[in-house]
Amino acid sequence: MTASLNGMTLPPWASHLLHKLAPPPLLLVQAFVNTLDLDLHTDVLAHADEARAWLADAGLRGPEQPDLAADLELARAFRESLRAMIARNTGGPPLNAAELRPLEQVTSQAAPRLEVTTDCQVELECSVGAERLADGLAGLLLAIRDAQADGSWDRMKLCGNPDCLWAFYDRSHSRQGAWCDMASCGNRLKNRSLRARRTQAG
Ligand SMILES: [Zn+2]
Repeated sequence: MTASLNGMTLPPWASHLLHKLAPPPLLLVQAFVNTLDLDLHTDVLAHADEARAWLADAGLRGPEQPDLAADLELARAFRESLRAMIARNTGGPPLNAAELRPLEQVTSQAAPRLEVTTDCQVELECSVGAERLADGLAGLLLAIRDAQADGSWDRMKLCGNPDCLWAFYDRSHSRQGAWCDMASCGNRLKNRSLRARRTQAG
């Protein structure tokens, strides 16, 4: 099965997302956070070559940039800060100092630029084909800021399974979606709590 978004084939940097896709540009935030798969124990950003290729493909960092190891450390820390930001949408705590630090590192290094388009849209940009990682990651924050403004950010959630924590986009009318996928996480957890209750009752 080829995952698709409104009939469009997903870009390669989002090929690990199978369902509950966020609309672009939030899709890139979702793809970035889900480069760590706790369930499968895989991390796209853990291996230098794979990480360099993925970040370049996603337009977050030029492949020839120096200091890959330091950049990957920042990218992984920043990824957990984004996960904490998404967790806030499902009742998670406010960010702590350790979670704020990578965000501040990026916002202090990035250089977003104001632009006025020919049809008079005022835009703040720093992510288009970003060379420096800080600019690329700041672009993710700009996407979040826009999503916060139009309300779509509230639909970005973390799976309620603590062993999963997959970032998914809740398109349900009720906005009560709690699982990345009912089959893989929802039912598994429900069965687990059912078994626990039966054991207690027995
Ligand atoms: Zn899940």
